[in-house]
Amino acid sequence: MEKGNLFIISAPSGTGKTTILKRVISELESIVFSVSHTTRTPRIGEKEGVDYFFVEKDTFETMQKQGLFFEWAEVHANLYGTSSHAVKELTEQGKDVILDIDVQGARQVMDKVREKVFFVFIAPPSLQELEKRLANRGTESESVISTRLKNAHDEMKSLEHYDYVIVNEQVDRAVEVLKSIIIAERSRKRRGVSGEPLKLDF
Ligand code: 5GP
Repeated sequence: MEKGNLFIISAPSGTGKTTILKRVISELESIVFSVSHTTRTPRIGEKEGVDYFFVEKDTFETMQKQGLFFEWAEVHANLYGTSSHAVKELTEQGKDVILDIDVQGARQVMDKVREKVFFVFIAPPSLQELEKRLANRGTESESVISTRLKNAHDEMKSLEHYDYVIVNEQVDRAVEVLKSIIIAERSRKRRGVSGEPLKLDF
């Protein structure tokens, strides 16, 4: 079976990435989200095993020492990592996998594999707009917002290393663009819109 593609999606915090990814995964077939491990505490409404696997720092560090992470990084003073096993298992089933990871993690993947891996950066229309969205979200304190804005400024510098850039001016449009990218990459490898191999018997 043809292995699935990996879509590495990075975006500064507050860009609307989570909303876009949830929509894309529910609207396209044969694509799944890779659930990361993190030492961050859950936000209200977040579910274990759905949004993240929430683990203690020592558990994370043990996994890291055992080489269980495909990539990992410290982001906003918390540790985040992607399980190698989960990614391998899903892509070998022919599924496309979305990884929502920061720019440091994306750089590690860029250094490791380039085949069947596509890098997509979702950018806010401007830093002022991002500040407004983070404040409206109301889930973070002022000091957390200011750290995230500073990080956003740094993260934007990595944009040139990505294959695709989507500016999230309007969620519906950003969802359509990301879906188009995924479908286009499937077509390149003779797969249909829903991810299945094309039957070209002639
Ligand atoms: P949040 O705490 O807002 O859910 O995520 C903070 C940042 O961590 C986001 O930029 C997100 O992309 C990143 N992140 C989430 N999971 C992973 C992961 O497994 N690896 C890396 N490198 N970054 C991650």
